[in-house]
Amino acid sequence: MAMTCKACTHPRRLELDSLLATNFASNRRIASRYSLTEAAIRRHKSLHLSARLAKAAKAREIVDAGTVLDRLKLAHEEAWEILAEARQAGDIEIRLKALARIERQLELEGRLIGELRDGQTINLVLSPDWQRTRLAILEALAPYDDARRAVQKALRQASS
Ligand SMILES: [Zn+2]
Repeated sequence: MAMTCKACTHPRRLELDSLLATNFASNRRIASRYSLTEAAIRRHKSLHLSARLAKAAKAREIVDAGTVLDRLKLAHEEAWEILAEARQAGDIEIRLKALARIERQLELEGRLIGELRDGQTINLVLSPDWQRTRLAILEALAPYDDARRAVQKALRQASS
């Protein structure tokens, strides 16, 4: 009996396939994330995924999540370097831009790691790394009252 594959027809199919292909998450976790049954995921994985992957690899549609994370980390380090330079040069505008970038990167990294880790989502706000980073950001901005308040406000909004 012909049956429509709910994974194949899923609106976030590409994302789903890339998670399945990189084996970063269990079938159970992927199933719950995309509101599918584990059986549907298993079936899709064994019957449809490899054909799709071959096609997608050609079209470069599949993003390797690990590679994205690596690139993100590099960009992150660069942003911190820019921040350090701007601090030394006393360039508050560049500093704030670097901080904003770092903030976005942290957010993205948190989300990405949440996708990659099996079984649990990361609460970015509670993660010790984030706490340390936030502290460092606010500390660095301490001499700049307005800037610190603006960043603090943005951080609160981002984490609510
Ligand atoms: Zn399928």
